[in-house]
Amino acid sequence: MAHYKYAILGAGPTGLGAAYRLKELNVNNFIVIDKEPNAGGLSSSYVDDKGFTWDIGGHVQFSHYTYFDKLMTQALGEDGWLNHQRESWVWIKDRFVPYPFQNNIRYLPKEDMWKCLQGIIREYKLTSYQKPANFKEWIHATFGQGLADIFMIPYNYKVWAYPAEMMSYSWIGERVAITDLERVTKNILFDIEDISWGPNSTFQFPKFGGTGAIWLAVAKLIGEQYFRQNTEVTAVNEKDKSIIVNNGETITYDYLINTIPLDKLVHIMSHTSDEWKAEVKKLKHSTTHIIGVGLKGKPKESLATKCWMYFPEDNCPFYRVTVFSNYSPNNVPDINTHWSLMAEVSESPYKAVNSSTIVEETIQGMLNAKLIEDREHIASVWYKSLDYGYPTPSTDRDGVLNKIIPQLDKMHIYSRGRFGGWKYEVSNQDHSLMQGVEIVNKLELGIGEVTFPFPATANAMWGK
Ligand SMILES: Cc1cc2nc3c(=O)[nH]c(=O)nc-3n(C[C@H](O)[C@H](O)[C@H](O)COP(=O)(O)OP(=O)(O)OC[C@H]3O[C@@H](n4cnc5c(N)ncnc54)[C@H](O)[C@@H]3O)c2cc1C
Repeated sequence: MAHYKYAILGAGPTGLGAAYRLKELNVNNFIVIDKEPNAGGLSSSYVDDKGFTWDIGGHVQFSHYTYFDKLMTQALGEDGWLNHQRESWVWIKDRFVPYPFQNNIRYLPKEDMWKCLQGIIREYKLTSYQKPANFKEWIHATFGQGLADIFMIPYNYKVWAYPAEMMSYSWIGERVAITDLERVTKNILFDIEDISWGPNSTFQFPKFGGTGAIWLAVAKLIGEQYFRQNTEVTAVNEKDKSIIVNNGETITYDYLINTIPLDKLVHIMSHTSDEWKAEVKKLKHSTTHIIGVGLKGKPKESLATKCWMYFPEDNCPFYRVTVFSNYSPNNVPDINTHWSLMAEVSESPYKAVNSSTIVEETIQGMLNAKLIEDREHIASVWYKSLDYGYPTPSTDRDGVLNKIIPQLDKMHIYSRGRFGGWKYEVSNQDHSLMQGVEIVNKLELGIGEVTFPFPATANAMWGK
């Protein structure tokens, strides 16, 4: 029976962060186990049979951490990257409005512009403030009725697939720009295009191989002898400190770093109580469908430099589309004759998606939203559905995490990462990698974690 000081479940950015840090500290007694053939998890990329490269949704790098930045350079080299200015837009009322939407309402028809402005003014005129109870109330208090009705509520439903009243707003910090009446009014009066905001106004992307190339390179830096790919963990015996994998083999450990979804972990643990199973049932997530459409020709002028676009209206199923060929010319077979669009569609028990028709609905939606002009130019269609796409920051999430994670820690099971830790606000690639690094720092060096226990601090410290 194999024994390791550390067993790491999952070879996504979190598991790779933990493994890389262990190597760096000269701790070589560890194994990374993943059910997929390659490392990368949700940050993997695929090349379809027509030669188009696809991420699992448009992934961009906007790091919060020096450690992460250095590792990215080491992984792909100084020359391995392309740098981009973020250009994100909202397609609404048959036109593009620059993001953030609330600062650019001057692009809207006058009636809608006034509804938005009136809502903001009314919020400013309120003399008493009541703390919002959920995300819906927060949206109304922050943006006013007009912006809520026209953009925030429909758009957020399309992204999250849950009604906003089921969600908390504790995850919001840097992620949403708060409406500033003075700024909005000035933008309208002086025709100002207000587009520079937040930590991701610039970002980098791998020249070759999509986002997945980063994580394959990081896995290579760690060394292939540390990985067991194509190996699914089917049981965790927390008392014996052992795991069982799909070929029946048992592996024992001193410390378990888990990055598989927390609810799934609880269900494969040998001694889980019904109370815990009931707790993790409260955790919500959405499924994400990714539809890549490879095209012949060139993007039309209005898409020539755009990065990604948001779609709040119901004439298309997707909430976001990325002009993926603009991220790297190598994402298409020949940039002189091809380009590509990648759409994301969310699903939950509150928002159904028919997986047998979603590709066709997406293509029709691209026609409706005037992203493409005809079907004749479609060269390739790629589709992938992710059961676990977004960890929903629901109102009862923190109660569940506060109950279970400290207990798991005591059993020497450290559940971290996008779905291991379930905290959307620290679930990008940089956050995930650093959650892996920080848990190793804690166990090996006694240095306290920041990113997982204190997301707001982490984002404030490294977000600017
Ligand atoms: C649509 C979308 C868009 C995104 N856009 C961005 C972006 O623009 N920028 C950004 O920085 N981040 C983005 N992300 C987030 C990014 O993908 C995550 O930060 C990152 O992949 C999370 O890493 P992780 O290691 O925590 O989890 P994962 O990547 O989910 O890795 C978990 C691993 O566990 C494995 N696993 C699961 N169950 C088992 C089992 N039973 N046995 C063995 N292995 C198992 C899986 O195969 C997987 O490899 C996006 C995510 C999505 C879904």
